[in-house]
Amino acid sequence: MKQTIRFGRISGVEVGANWSLLVLILLVADGLATAVLPQLAPGYSSGAYWTAGVVCGLLIAGSLLLHELAHSVVAQRAGIPVQRITLWMLGGASVLDGEPATPRTAFWIAASGPLTSLGLGLGSGTIAVLLNRTGVPGLIVMSLWWLGIMNVFLAVFNLLPGLPLDGGRILRAALWWRSGDPNQAAISAGRGGQVIGYLLTGLGFAEWLSGSLTGLWLVMIGFVIITSVTAESRLTRLRISLGQTTVRAAMSQPEVTAYVAMPVERFVTEVAPRTREAVFPVVDLDGAPTGTVALHRLARVPATRRASTTIADVQRPLADVPVAHPDDLLADLVSRMSPAPDELALVIEHDRLVGVFRGQDIARLVHLAAFRPAAQAT
Ligand SMILES: [Zn+2]
Repeated sequence: MKQTIRFGRISGVEVGANWSLLVLILLVADGLATAVLPQLAPGYSSGAYWTAGVVCGLLIAGSLLLHELAHSVVAQRAGIPVQRITLWMLGGASVLDGEPATPRTAFWIAASGPLTSLGLGLGSGTIAVLLNRTGVPGLIVMSLWWLGIMNVFLAVFNLLPGLPLDGGRILRAALWWRSGDPNQAAISAGRGGQVIGYLLTGLGFAEWLSGSLTGLWLVMIGFVIITSVTAESRLTRLRISLGQTTVRAAMSQPEVTAYVAMPVERFVTEVAPRTREAVFPVVDLDGAPTGTVALHRLARVPATRRASTTIADVQRPLADVPVAHPDDLLADLVSRMSPAPDELALVIEHDRLVGVFRGQDIARLVHLAAFRPAAQAT
């Protein structure tokens, strides 16, 4: 899902949210204000219930953020860079720029999230119990109590043993530790995810048919789990079939490179028509790569400004582009790329562009992998 709101950087990680997070906050606020809190703490005005509901909705979003930050901080300590954290309607997601090197690291990255939620839940519950004895209004006590229960629920739910849930990552780490094979462990933990995804979807449908709208929520969560575990398993099978193939063996030479200071006008009329490619590496005067630029980005520059705008103004900067050394494993590069048609990885050696690898090449490799014996063994 896309980050539509950016909150800023926390310990170097771009933290943001998708607009659908608002749906979550509103649903939580509505449920608490109209049903849960009037029952748990009767006798307050509807304004008070709504205030408590909205505050709890925001605190749940904050809890999700702390859960994701725990994953990120542990990953960073293990030397794995974290691109971003995105909160949305169904929770949070951290995008890591690499794979853990050992099962032990994989375990701690996965376990840190649920442990944080559990800590938040127990902490919030304990504060509620203590405040209850000091005569603090029941509405505040019950809101904290509810927040505690939700965080414990979040920890338990995330511990279900199937990818992409944290429990699935813990299962994968355990299987990896036992067998020594991270990819086979991922395939097995992926099967757990499929089962959980279908169970949740079925359960949600049954609940929905019996008249409860929360069933729809379960259906959505089940669906997201199935979609993401299917994509992840496909990538794992690709990793297995790519084996020790290096980037050098799979990269190609770009037909055209864009010069960073060239005006968009000149590039589009003189250089781009020489090739059928739609995304280009960008280099500076010394031949050092500075990013990539896609034809659709160039087309968005208004005609009146094409002469004064340079490639530098519209390029996707190097920091946002997947980059590899020719001797890197292709499997590692592919796992950092999206299969989008305008995705272009730059292969760099001694500050020079030595090749490129395209997002669309991944789809080709996936199809080819289906013919290899290694993929059938899974
Ligand atoms: Zn998690």
